[in-house]
This record gives sequence, C-alpha cells and structure tokens, in this order.
Amino acid sequence: MNRIPMFDYLVQYHKIESDILAAVSRVLNSGRLVLGNEVRAFEGAFVDFLGGGGSAVGVNSGTDALAIALMALGVGPGDEVVTVANTAVPTVSAIRMTGAIPVFCDVDASTALMDLEQLAYCFSLKTKAVIPVHLFGNVVDVERIRSIIGNRDIRIIEDCAQAHGAQLRGQPAGTMGDASAFSFYPTKNLGAFGDAGLCYSNDTGLVKEMRRIRMYGFDDAYYSEREGINSRMDEIQAAVLNVKLARLGDNLEKRRKLAGRYNQLLDPAIERIKPGEYVDHAYHLYVIKVDERDRVRKELTRQGVDTGVHYPFPIHLMRAYRFLGYGEGTLSNTETLAKKILSLPMYPELPPESVENVSALVNRAMA
Ligand SMILES: *Cc1c(COP(=O)(O)O)cnc(C)c1O
Repeated sequence: MNRIPMFDYLVQYHKIESDILAAVSRVLNSGRLVLGNEVRAFEGAFVDFLGGGGSAVGVNSGTDALAIALMALGVGPGDEVVTVANTAVPTVSAIRMTGAIPVFCDVDASTALMDLEQLAYCFSLKTKAVIPVHLFGNVVDVERIRSIIGNRDIRIIEDCAQAHGAQLRGQPAGTMGDASAFSFYPTKNLGAFGDAGLCYSNDTGLVKEMRRIRMYGFDDAYYSEREGINSRMDEIQAAVLNVKLARLGDNLEKRRKLAGRYNQLLDPAIERIKPGEYVDHAYHLYVIKVDERDRVRKELTRQGVDTGVHYPFPIHLMRAYRFLGYGEGTLSNTETLAKKILSLPMYPELPPESVENVSALVNRAMA
C-alpha cells in the first residue's frame, strides 16, 4: 500500500496544470507583477464567494491580514485582544505585531472552539478586540460573542484561515464580525502556490484603512495618509487563486463527503471534535480525540498513514509567550485537548478508498 499523506497539492496541480500555466504566463506577459488586475479580480471574486456585501483587500499572508485588521481598528500597545491558545501561532504573532497583549480564553472540550461561557471573564477595560478562531473549519457563534460584548467598545475579527466556505446558520464565516482575515497558505482550503492572505469587512471606512495599511499608508504614491506596512499580494499568486477559487465549491463538497465517510466508518466509540450547533463545517481538518494519541499515531505511521496534531503545544505554555504569565493548568481544556487530538488525512483529492483504509486502521489501533 502507498503511503497516505496528510496533504498533497501535486494531485490537484496536475489536474489544473494547463490553466495555472496559462494564468501565470498571462501575468508575466502583462507588464504588471503586484496589485494589478489579477488581485482586483480575485478580491471581487472572493467577495462574491462570501455572498457580496463587503469588500476585500488582498495581502501577503493570513498573519498580515489579522495584523492589518487590528491596526485598522486602532489596536496598539497597552490594548488587550482576547483569543484562544489552541490556534496556529500566527493568530498570536499578529496581535503582538501591533504591540497589544493577547488574553487567552479557554476552549470548549467538545468543539475545541472558544468557550463563550468564559469569554466575559476575559474582558477588562483594556480589551479592544476579540479574535474567535474558526478552527478546523468549524465556526464560533459570532452573534453570541456580539451579545456577550453588549455595549462594551470591543470589535470582533474572525480568524478564517481554516474556514473558507464554512457557514453558521447559513451565514458564511468571515461575514459576521467587524472584520475577518483569510490565509491562502498552500495547505488551506483555498491555497496559493506561496504566501497570500486577505482582509474582509462590510465597513467601508475600515476597508479604506486596511487598503492604506497594506501599502505604506498610501492612497496614491508617494504620500502616507497614515502609517502602514508592505503587505501587497502579488499578481502570480492572485492569478493562481483565481483559477483555484472557481473550484473551491466542488472541493468543499468533496471534503464534506470524505468527512461523512469518516463519520460512518470510524468506530462510534471514537470521540470526534464536534461541529458547533447550526454549523456547516468546511473540514479543513478532520480531528478525533485519542487517549493514547502518541501510541496510536506511531502505529498509524508504521502502517503507512500520515497524521497530524493541530496543535501539540498550547501557545500560552510556549517559551516565547511565558512572559504573558500563564502557567500550566490555567487553560485546562486547551491543555487536555493538545494531548488527545489527532488529525486524519483530509484533502479533496484523497481517494474514498483511502478513507476506508485509514478508518479501518484507526479502529484497529484503538481497539
Ligand atoms: C494558517 C493560519 C494563520 C496564518 O496564516 P499565514 O498565511 O500562514 O500567515 C492564522 N490563523 C490560523 C488559525 C491559521 O491556521
């Protein structure tokens, strides 16, 4: 049996190679390599994908998209931003890029999402924003966050790096907060062939600020209306994304079908990370909970199945973030989940037979 990988972009690339090469050649012959027609077209197409209504700003990465959204909201040194510690490190890097202090809310043990029962206890007079992370393609209840915020002056930025195409009560992830951030890192549900990201908002004033911050604070060259950075999206990545966005709907359907097969084939006694209520999950990852995770993982590797752990180290316990003052035991669900979670192979081109093989091997390894 061939190895079953966690992710394989080459299978997809070979299916769309001629379209990609044509798009890249179009860019190279256009005479424009950054922030041109491909980026504008992609921003427009992505807004349509999210149902219209807002505006998008193409940037250089998901990390930058989060940082730019925070900067546009005026978040800076001394402010606090509430998020979770079971996310990709970049959620926290982005907060630190503004000089603000991350405050960690524990997560729900069954969904692995921000525990909204505890959110209000994380607020202080310094809190400027909340970043709910739609982890694994699951969706945090943003409306409920809004009602917990009440009349406090706190903004919501959705971290949608894993949730392209996910919905809550029919509303696309990314359209419910004050702003949202997407990543197009190659492994994401919509992946470029390099780095790219995007900011989205329904608030035109905020979009104008995000667009300025993306390029040195300019409306026009060479004059800064405000302080900014360089986080331009390049035309080649935008052209690749234009080709791949057209296939995102199909790919989401494939992910959901594969997840449905795992749901059927895995032993019912095996615990899974549950979709939130009213969530149409985007299955960036399919994650189960395993008591003897490291033993089971080793056994699967031996049998030719690659698995992942997203993420093995809670951020509040990492050396880089010890200065924040969280000790072991301060976020108990986050810490317990980090020891148990196991991500099974999941990408649109994963053959259904592989899901059958993986499920049988997982069932046997856990029996
Ligand atoms: C990937 C990811 C990011 C960062 O995106 P980059 O494009 O790699 O900077 C942020 N948050 C989450 C939850 C992610 O998975």
